[in-house]
Amino acid sequence: MLNPATEEPLAELEQAGVEETDAAVAAAKAAFPAWRAVAPSDRARLLRRLATLVEERAEELARIESQNVGKPIAGARGEVGMVAEVFHFYAGAVDKHHGETIPVAGGVDITFREPLGVVGLIVPWNFPLNIASWKLGPALACGNTVVLKPAELTPLSALRLAELALEAGIPEGVVNVVVGKGSVVGQRLVEHPDVAKIGFTGSTEVGRSVMQGAAGTIKRVTLELGGKSANVVFADADLERAAAAAPYAVFDNAGQDCCARSRILVERSVYDRFLELLAQATAQVRVGDPADERTEMGPLISAQHRETVSSFLDDSTRVAFRGAAPDSDRGFWFPCTIVEATNDDRVAREEVFGPVAAVIPFADEAEAVSLANDTPFGLSGSIWTRDGARALRVARGVETGVLSVNSNSSVRVATPFGGFKQSGFGRELGMHALEGYSEVKNVFLSTEE
Ligand code: NAD
Repeated sequence: MLNPATEEPLAELEQAGVEETDAAVAAAKAAFPAWRAVAPSDRARLLRRLATLVEERAEELARIESQNVGKPIAGARGEVGMVAEVFHFYAGAVDKHHGETIPVAGGVDITFREPLGVVGLIVPWNFPLNIASWKLGPALACGNTVVLKPAELTPLSALRLAELALEAGIPEGVVNVVVGKGSVVGQRLVEHPDVAKIGFTGSTEVGRSVMQGAAGTIKRVTLELGGKSANVVFADADLERAAAAAPYAVFDNAGQDCCARSRILVERSVYDRFLELLAQATAQVRVGDPADERTEMGPLISAQHRETVSSFLDDSTRVAFRGAAPDSDRGFWFPCTIVEATNDDRVAREEVFGPVAAVIPFADEAEAVSLANDTPFGLSGSIWTRDGARALRVARGVETGVLSVNSNSSVRVATPFGGFKQSGFGRELGMHALEGYSEVKNVFLSTEE
């Protein structure tokens, strides 16, 4: 593992293979009967204790995340704060996720929310701890035991979290972390007969193979995949506000964000003015040392990823603005880049997963919706307008799972998050996530004599 800002090694870890994965699944299977039997209020207390420990060790966790991913420390602190909030939320959810009684003839019908058993959680490198917590929280609250596979490049925070889970009193075997390759550990979890469900976040390409692999055992899957979200700016919007916010909706986490609003669709009548404001706002983004409190954007995750991001720009690219980045031969730096494009250009079709925004003009509301939807993805998006009715019409028309109006923020602990189309299915966060980690059981009791 390297620090992406300095290219200095952070740690060297043994890579697990199939045998270690099987051992972790066996440990999770053995721990399941006792964990599901823990009284709901006690399970809640354990999750709350974990949340408190995350708060107490927040600075340490934020530093691990900042060094391993190259995230600015201020942002990493915010993310760790969310992790604690997630465990608090699901501690509170344990005894609020209950069944029903259904009126039927001849007796009583009741439903139970049963845990699934052992769940495999596979997460990416861009928000390692956050995304792990979005799965761990509901999985544990429902009474499942877990095997978590962090991304190869960023396993350090997950390993520390597993230690904190033990310290919180969550029994051994309930939370297992296996560090290894996706094609080995991930694949084994997907195919393992004792794993009941896979909660996966990652690329659409790997998501497809997870879904195929899961078919063998009819495993449940939740897929949180890639995105190519639109930030739609109408002429009647508060342009200054929309432009000031837009850079952070693409360049946050150096663009390595599934929700990145990387297609900025702008009504033609204000296109030139908006582009000017956007360039001014982007020039303010502070790129540099992730350990510096004021830094807003760090490096990309790896040299290989920088190659991929660079491949989206060539001689034919119409670059409208290119920001500054540290001029160092160490670190995987890439400047904030704004390009003018059409929706058919590769930069507008594929997920760049780097700090590159494509600005695309549209003529009217109908074209805005049609361009926003002209993509295989459907994760996120924003709508900027002062016309409330239009905001609602467009929000209903855009085929994505999460949207924000006059804001670029649509991920919250209490609200559902997930994709339409090839951005995946199933919902994380909020009470909705509990559906993905439990099974409804229906029991009829005859009252006849
Ligand atoms: P990735 O798909 O390469 O890897 C994700 C995880 O899957 C890693 O842990 C990897 O080791 C594992 N994996 C790889 N091959 C596997 C296989 N054959 N079987 C099982 N597991 C396997 O993704 P990445 O490069 O780590 O992350 C970037 C991608 O994640 C982007 O496409 C991004 O949009 C997406 N993402 C989506 C969300 C969301 O919530 N929708 C959030 C963050 C990231």
